[in-house]
Amino acid sequence: MNAPLREPSFRESVDLMFNRAIALTNIPEGLKEKIRVCNSTYTVRFGVRLRNHIYTFTGYRSVHSEHMEPVKGGIRFAMSVNQNEVEALAALMTFKCALVEVPFGGSKGGLCINPRDWEEHELELITRRFAYELAKRDMINPAQNVPAPDMGTGEREMAWIVDQYRRMNTTDINAAACVTGKPLNAGGIAGRVEATGRGVQYALQEMFRHPEDVTKAGLSGGLEGKRIVMQGLGNVGYHAAKFLSEEDGALITGVAEFDGGIVNPDGISIEDLKQHIVETGSVKGFAGGTYVENSASVLEEECDILIPAAMEGSINMGNVDRIRAPLIVEAANGPVTAGADEALRGRGVVIMPDLYVNAGGVTVSYFEWVKNLSHIRFGRMQRRQEEAQNAMLVTEIDGLLKKAGMSEGLSEKFKQDYVRGAGELELVRSGLDDTMRTAYQSMREIWNSREDVPDLRVAAYLVSIDRIAAGYKSKGL
Ligand code: GLU
Repeated sequence: MNAPLREPSFRESVDLMFNRAIALTNIPEGLKEKIRVCNSTYTVRFGVRLRNHIYTFTGYRSVHSEHMEPVKGGIRFAMSVNQNEVEALAALMTFKCALVEVPFGGSKGGLCINPRDWEEHELELITRRFAYELAKRDMINPAQNVPAPDMGTGEREMAWIVDQYRRMNTTDINAAACVTGKPLNAGGIAGRVEATGRGVQYALQEMFRHPEDVTKAGLSGGLEGKRIVMQGLGNVGYHAAKFLSEEDGALITGVAEFDGGIVNPDGISIEDLKQHIVETGSVKGFAGGTYVENSASVLEEECDILIPAAMEGSINMGNVDRIRAPLIVEAANGPVTAGADEALRGRGVVIMPDLYVNAGGVTVSYFEWVKNLSHIRFGRMQRRQEEAQNAMLVTEIDGLLKKAGMSEGLSEKFKQDYVRGAGELELVRSGLDDTMRTAYQSMREIWNSREDVPDLRVAAYLVSIDRIAAGYKSKGL
């Protein structure tokens, strides 16, 4: 397929990418169309009385595919929200869930609002009213449609939503599972806030376990010392940058934010920069790097890995010629337009696609939903039993070593580390790591074995499409 002449819309971009992949399958035409289309989009306009005035808000909940239920996807609060965007995001949720074997269909919601325009108590009223409109039509429901945070929303909004649902469904014993990304004290799970960023880290770690794949991007070695430019220091970008720099030794040489960027070839301290943003509301004046007014130009800096973790369309036909990174890791949804994607592939740039890279959020959402339905924290039953068993083993070995004349036995540090049973956070991380590794392996197998699959995005779509098609076939539509 040739590069589009004009910049496609987000929805068109997702379709173009999907079409490139599905063309390589022998799925019957009718089923291809069924998998591509968005099943339904509900638009709601509701009024809320605030500041002695009735304000009307417009919101959406789009369901892309119900081959598995519940359907899953975040709710975004932003002025840019529109039907086209919500539908594109819902489609991505379908493919994302299938790729990482999370048993959900795809959905997405959005409210056209600038959260910064409103006080907290006003936002609560607006969120609750939106939740009411969705819940009464079963578009928030533990068995049918389970929202989560997205841009402009977080734990706070999810707590309001679950409470609103409970008020409307007082006898639903599974009410907590109607939404994920809740605070721990409202039925959330340890590790959900950091999950998407953690998933980005695990995705890169897994790629770097395969030197042949790293070579395809013209890189070599491990993550240590790799120069990373991060676009966006929101929840996803912040956690990804923090973990990659603090735990893997990568250098964050550039950060692009909405009001400017920071560059530093020796690496930026993400904790210090975040602290500065929290204190001053801006990256301006940060002492740990050079301030760049034109934030978009930071994406064009020379680096090893570029991680767009902000909005869709940030790498487009307007700036693609100036992008210099050999490896792009799509932490945001849809950050590379179909036109830019075509151009980058033409230049041999390797792109780790969004439906894989940012799947950590929905993966841990799945764990949270399971936790809510089982009404028990992960690890609660087995942790101490595991510890007791481990302690027995350690004591025995320690005794034998001493008997054999090794007077020191096992070190105290080893004993402590080994004995410790896994709590919820450790289990969540282990489940997420396993998910990201397995999904990468399913993509790379196709990427490395099929001549007609030139890139990871097509490989990712092929894995997903295959599973969705199987789902529809066994269901009989
Ligand atoms: N909004 C996130 C995403 O785009 C999370 C969705 C979820 O957890 O359901 O993947």
